[in-house]
Amino acid sequence: MQKETTVTDSIAIDGPGAVGKTTVGRILALRLGWLFLDTGAMYRAITLAVQQKRIDTERNESSVVLLAEESGIQLTQNGSGAPRIFLDGLDVTDAIKSAEVERQVSFVSRIGGVRSAMVKKQQEMAMRGKIIMAGRDIGTVVMPGAKLKFFLTGTSEIRADRRFKEMYAASGAQTPAEVLADLIRRDKLDSEREISPLKPAHDAILVDTTNLTLDQVVDKLFQYCRERKLASSGK
Ligand code: C5P
Repeated sequence: MQKETTVTDSIAIDGPGAVGKTTVGRILALRLGWLFLDTGAMYRAITLAVQQKRIDTERNESSVVLLAEESGIQLTQNGSGAPRIFLDGLDVTDAIKSAEVERQVSFVSRIGGVRSAMVKKQQEMAMRGKIIMAGRDIGTVVMPGAKLKFFLTGTSEIRADRRFKEMYAASGAQTPAEVLADLIRRDKLDSEREISPLKPAHDAILVDTTNLTLDQVVDKLFQYCRERKLASSGK
């Protein structure tokens, strides 16, 4: 399903849920003046579309694939890097973060045809160059020729704690225990699926974020960018 992309200026950031890939990737992209693409948002948007159309993912895989192929997904970011995601012209930025979407997304993203459709869109964007992509299979499948590949890790407890504080502490929509259980379940599904499972590329740099602050993680990655001459030393 995948074709090797030409090596352009590109950075892959992979890792499990709530490890900070998106936040780190976005800040790093701002520092480098590059584009940032959160591929998780794309799988979430398709999951939302599946739910809105009430498609049964188990019984009607072909309709899910068709939806993935035909849905218009646009990701935009303003000057400060704040992302918006549109599904067929409608802003779904908040809707794709719901617990409902989070519960089903790993079942949608393990369907081969869905992955082919998403990878195709992602590889088209990668061709533009100067892009950072965050996801699960970026270094292994989407951009195997990326100039730098990072695989972020962190204990499930610390990741769940971060996700709880960021998303649910104010609303109380989920308890910390529920967030942890959901995260563990999603990581297991993503790591054990047949197609493009979550795993580090053989040449990925592993970064354990457990005891690091957000700024420390960004600085560490930025340092690698400098070493590989992807960033000017003045920044
Ligand atoms: O990164 P985020 O948690 O938003 O991703 C949501 C889900 O999308 C993941 O749990 C995974 O099932 C799927 N995903 C994927 N491949 C990617 C990015 C996300 O399968 N490159």
